[in-house]
Amino acid sequence: MPPARRSRIAGSRPKKKALARARKDNVYARIRETRFNRHISHDIAQYRRYLAEGGAAVYSASELNALERAGVSDRLPPRATAYYLDLAKRSEAVRNLIKARPEEMDDLSGEADPSNQLRYSPTPGLLHKYELVLLYVVRACSSWCRYCYRSDFLTGKTGKDIASIHEVRSYIESHNAAVRKGETHRPAIREALLSGGDPMVLSNRNLFDYMNGLAEAGVEVIRIGTKELAFFPQRFDDNFFEMLDLFHELHPDVLVAFMTHFTHPDEFLMLDENGGYVRNAHGRPLRNPAVAAPVKRLAGRAFVTLENQTPIIDSVNDDAGSLRLMQRELKRMGVNGHYFFQCREIEGHRAFAVPVEAAWRIHNDSQYGLSGIERSRFALSTEAGKMEMVAVLDGVKDALPPGLPPELARALRDGIVIFRLHRSPEAKGQGAIVIARRNPEAVWITGYEDRILYDGRKPGPAAAKAAGLLAALSPFLHAAE
Ligand code: SF4
Repeated sequence: MPPARRSRIAGSRPKKKALARARKDNVYARIRETRFNRHISHDIAQYRRYLAEGGAAVYSASELNALERAGVSDRLPPRATAYYLDLAKRSEAVRNLIKARPEEMDDLSGEADPSNQLRYSPTPGLLHKYELVLLYVVRACSSWCRYCYRSDFLTGKTGKDIASIHEVRSYIESHNAAVRKGETHRPAIREALLSGGDPMVLSNRNLFDYMNGLAEAGVEVIRIGTKELAFFPQRFDDNFFEMLDLFHELHPDVLVAFMTHFTHPDEFLMLDENGGYVRNAHGRPLRNPAVAAPVKRLAGRAFVTLENQTPIIDSVNDDAGSLRLMQRELKRMGVNGHYFFQCREIEGHRAFAVPVEAAWRIHNDSQYGLSGIERSRFALSTEAGKMEMVAVLDGVKDALPPGLPPELARALRDGIVIFRLHRSPEAKGQGAIVIARRNPEAVWITGYEDRILYDGRKPGPAAAKAAGLLAALSPFLHAAE
């Protein structure tokens, strides 16, 4: 069971910067900052001003009026850097990712706190589910994806607070001490993911505070979840790399994993004025130098890895060809394909979600023609853990043998889906299989909960896991008695 949650009034985080930086004057003196101007348009009024000053015309006047009438800013204000808006002008996929749509407000059903994350928050701003902990470190990104699965945190709707590195450090140290003494069966905390928002919008010193505090607490791998390479790659400048190298000098055995969030190849390949890919003499697409240069600098460091993860989103990246190209070209650039995710059940998710089985099909088709090192997984990040969808079996079209129990006949007619718990907070849940009758309309795991035949997530004996299958067979079993 996750530990009991401690709460704190949002915004009252003990900062204690002086404590974090005490006796480290010589270290912090070596960290330099750059004053970036990302030219962010936050919300509709600012976008109108940006447009009047000659900015990229991504919305028409009538579209802006329709957004105001629909009240999209109440859900999530549209926000983007000038760099990304310029890209949006040339790419339909990028436009669909960043442009607010009035339809977002048509159906606001969904979870305020997707996957019940607060259940796993023992300390404000910290989620502890696996051997990995997640820290909310900032409540902003340079631009905001319309499908943002952290919109509840960005808008402050669920009261999640920013992590204090002092509280997190003492939590990690006491948890790992308890593991060493055998007081808990949970694994030691070895990894930490800096999330938000986007940690790369923090200053170098503030980012270093978190990285250094985690390394001093004994964390072996620090992940930085970021879409800044797509939104504002200029952030990865000399001052940032100097800070990164300084961190490595102080903590040479800590791996830094950049969890990139490229959603479509248009975000890192070179586009011509009409949005087509610019290719070399071999027909291979060229890279956008603004992105390729920092990726090359990151990938060139032995203590850094790059892993990409993104959801599959309606009208953005819901085609196998784009996903295949993205996986191939990311790998060639030095970025590993990690996960493709089902769009989470956030409020308003129906405007962005591709049905689960359709998303699986798109991802599965995208794997054809990829080598073993270019491939990725398709998963749902659920409360029970990361559920990889491993198979969708078609229904039987031929006549079925007479006398089959009706529920079983339905499952054979409709077809079957199989999930595997790829990552579970519980040791016993690891690798568990879930088998359900197909539901082509389902956009989340909840769409299968009343169709489950075998549920490996359930604790207890095999009979409890197979309760759905036994119920489906019961008329048959009773008849045989
Ligand atoms: S980068 Fe991540 S946190 Fe930021 S808006 Fe996009 S999905 Fe949300």
